[in-house]
Amino acid sequence: MSIKITNECVNCGACVIECPNNAIYEEGMEWSYSDGTSLEGILNHRGENINAKEKNEPLSYDFFYIVPEKCTECRGFHDVPQCAAVCPVDCCVKDEKNIESINELNFKKNKLHCE
Ligand code: SF4
Ligand code: SF4
Repeated sequence: MSIKITNECVNCGACVIECPNNAIYEEGMEWSYSDGTSLEGILNHRGENINAKEKNEPLSYDFFYIVPEKCTECRGFHDVPQCAAVCPVDCCVKDEKNIESINELNFKKNKLHCE
């Protein structure tokens, strides 16, 4: 399952640099799969071929947000979600609407890092 940011976020930005997948964005910012990487294309978990450089609408205009398609709970990089570990107000929580198996999380991680 991915992690989500709740409306208790104080927009401090501390979580952004901790994310190994560049999955966290400031409110109002567009996102893409390739942000911070040289990724050009990606086959997502639904079997769709995606232009990784394509910009997508922000998921929040009020507080920092996590892109579920890019969050892997830090698998392969850290034992625990780093955003949750550094957040001063504990507003990075499990997203019950995006429950995924370890295999699915590993699949995402490998695609995002071209393995
Ligand atoms: S859990 Fe890890 S991969 Fe997911 S948003 Fe937080 S820092 Fe990024
Ligand atoms: S560390 Fe927590 S409060 Fe700060 S921007 Fe990230 S989610 Fe929001």
